[in-house]
Amino acid sequence: MNVEMELGLERRVGKRSANAIEKHLGITTVGGLLNHFPRKYINRGDLTRISELPFDEEVTLIARVVSNSTRQMRQRKGSITDVLVTDDAGSGTLKISFFNARLPRVELHAGRRVMFSGKVTRYQGSLGLTNPNYQLLDKDPDIAGTDPEKLAAMPIPIYPATAGITSWAIHNVVKALLATADLDALPDPLPAAISARQKFLPVPEAYRLIHTPENAQDWRKARDRFRYQEALVLQSALARRRAQLSAEEATARRPVTDGLLAAFDRQLPFTLTAGQSAVGKTLAEELSQNWPMNRLLQGEVGSGKTIVALRAMLQVVDAGGQAALLAPTEVLAAQHFESIRRTLGPLARDGLLGGLGDNAVQVSLLTGSMPTAARKQALLDAASGTAGIVIGTHALLSDNVTFFDLGLIVVDEQHRFGVEQRDALRAKASKPPHLLVMTATPIPRTVAMTVFGDLETSVLDELPAGRAPITTHVVGLAENPAWAARIWSRSREEIESGHQVYVVCPKIGADDDGDFTPGEAEPDPGELEGDGPARELASVTAVVDHLKEEPALSGVPLAPLHGRQDPVLKSETMASFTANQTKLLVSTTVIEVGVDVHNATLMVILDADRFGISQLHQLRGRVGRGGLPGTCLLVTTLEPGHPSRRRLDAVASTTDGFELSQEDLKLRREGDILGASQSGGRSTLKLLRVLEHEDIIARARQDAQQIVAADPGLAGHAALAEAIDEYLNPEKEAFLERG
Ligand code: ADP
Ligand code: MG
Repeated sequence: MNVEMELGLERRVGKRSANAIEKHLGITTVGGLLNHFPRKYINRGDLTRISELPFDEEVTLIARVVSNSTRQMRQRKGSITDVLVTDDAGSGTLKISFFNARLPRVELHAGRRVMFSGKVTRYQGSLGLTNPNYQLLDKDPDIAGTDPEKLAAMPIPIYPATAGITSWAIHNVVKALLATADLDALPDPLPAAISARQKFLPVPEAYRLIHTPENAQDWRKARDRFRYQEALVLQSALARRRAQLSAEEATARRPVTDGLLAAFDRQLPFTLTAGQSAVGKTLAEELSQNWPMNRLLQGEVGSGKTIVALRAMLQVVDAGGQAALLAPTEVLAAQHFESIRRTLGPLARDGLLGGLGDNAVQVSLLTGSMPTAARKQALLDAASGTAGIVIGTHALLSDNVTFFDLGLIVVDEQHRFGVEQRDALRAKASKPPHLLVMTATPIPRTVAMTVFGDLETSVLDELPAGRAPITTHVVGLAENPAWAARIWSRSREEIESGHQVYVVCPKIGADDDGDFTPGEAEPDPGELEGDGPARELASVTAVVDHLKEEPALSGVPLAPLHGRQDPVLKSETMASFTANQTKLLVSTTVIEVGVDVHNATLMVILDADRFGISQLHQLRGRVGRGGLPGTCLLVTTLEPGHPSRRRLDAVASTTDGFELSQEDLKLRREGDILGASQSGGRSTLKLLRVLEHEDIIARARQDAQQIVAADPGLAGHAALAEAIDEYLNPEKEAFLERG
């Protein structure tokens, strides 16, 4: 612990200031306040664009006073002073009202430049601030004696706005702190060689310039250092975690020459893609090591991740271990169970049949909703080692599930699966098992490097040969109402030619909010607002009712599928669709990931604007699988030009998942990338932006790798090690631990 960093703030800035900072910012230490960086800097010479001010948020702005008038209130005693301010850009004016205020009345006269702090409200179409705090810029004590040219260039730091304390009040305490703190005693987490290479500012100067810059270059230089420092600390934490993981001892599961895997490869009806072979080789090698594999497999929808995982599982079974495959939904677990047994053919042994040849593996399914007897049997088979491959949902995580010798965990479609769950499964093996995580959606490199930074990454970027293209159309019912009927006659044509159709709806019934199982990707934030008056969204039950009456589909066997159905009904429905008895499936996003019915060629997504980009991409990946070209119709009732239609256009314009996920992330907030969906916590990154700072993250990752490789315990990097501990709050630490 660095003494100066941990020192109570009151020791440096006095009790009053320290109390104010603690009360409003929750910061109590010297280090806490020094690391409370300005969110941005505004130029003393520039006025804030009024039209760009957000509502209902604490803001700090600079404006010029246009007029100042005071009137008596009619209903009550007292007066109101109205101060009209402008940004000189013609983007609008802001009315600032003070009640019974004497000073603003005299101070805020026309022509004055003033910095205000408060919450912007909108009243009867005009923007306003009520009783804001303000500071007269031409009376700022900072500027006394500064020459005018220098003054115009001097940035004003703006701290993250909070009700109750102005940005300049924070700044004043920070200035006092900079004057009294022992800056030379602060630790420097950056190795000297790196600072020299990057020409970074030394710590004391960096703190001074980030809080009290004299020009834009000052704060940029300071920010560069702290941003890189943040990246290095994070990447070092991840590198250390990787090193620790690989220092653990695992059971090596070496390939055998004439086992299940060899037999499986001989009977494969297709050749592996180059990517599948390469990844397969990597996995085979890593499973043979006596430390745990920790690998992330990213792959485009339909790139054939399952086969890759299955081959790894067979290698483990050959070596005498068990493998568990964890799927996010029951539908998907059941589907995997069916398709893996089908793919294995004679190599799969069913627990109930038994007695088949030796060169076969028992595949068991374990879900929460199975009949008790079957469930008991599956539990027994997992515990006794009879089951070589156990496929399941989160039910696999419950305490009563034990394995005889769990050697490999495969987590499919990671984005729906919490880290806690991965962790719970890991705890089921006596030695750390090997781990393979597969993502349903390709993720940008920098996200992989941060969110999954403690896993090694492999990518499958090519689709198996003979994969038919998917054509995607946006069907705008607002401009072409007649297309509504065309969708169903088009479906009919598809069914007539022997194929099948998916229809996806955002809701289950008329009065529910959709079908989002915990951990499932929710629609983008912002998507649920701003569509104007509430519109009736397509629901599974309403659409099924409608389609039963739809002349174009008369006689077509169709069925609903959604998360609230009885599990037995769900699997029956899915089985009937897989067997090509049900021709048209009306469902929620339960089919979003993994479902693999080759005969399905048309995907109709109703109210498609309700879904996020990667969800749409996933959904569309359900068709075009069996060598038959696929079509995806993104149906929307939004007007052309509505912002939410941009997403649909993006999805229609490319089938490149990497490109789309980049686009998707651009439309989301940072917190959602590192946040709840992935880590269970919020992003605590201050200066680093995962999407913007790819080069910094990549360089820091490289540096971190070198540092940790040379010094795994970071014994020679005490300040860095401390910064890691400091940086990782308990929540975040837990997230890394679980890798
Ligand atoms: P995803 O990566 O989206 O999970 P899957 O593993 O479900 O993709 O594979 C999609 C389909 O492609 C499956 O039906 C699978 O059998 C098939 N497939 C996988 N690899 C190949 C290959 N090398 N050649 C032809 N088809 C393949
Ligand atoms: Mg899959």
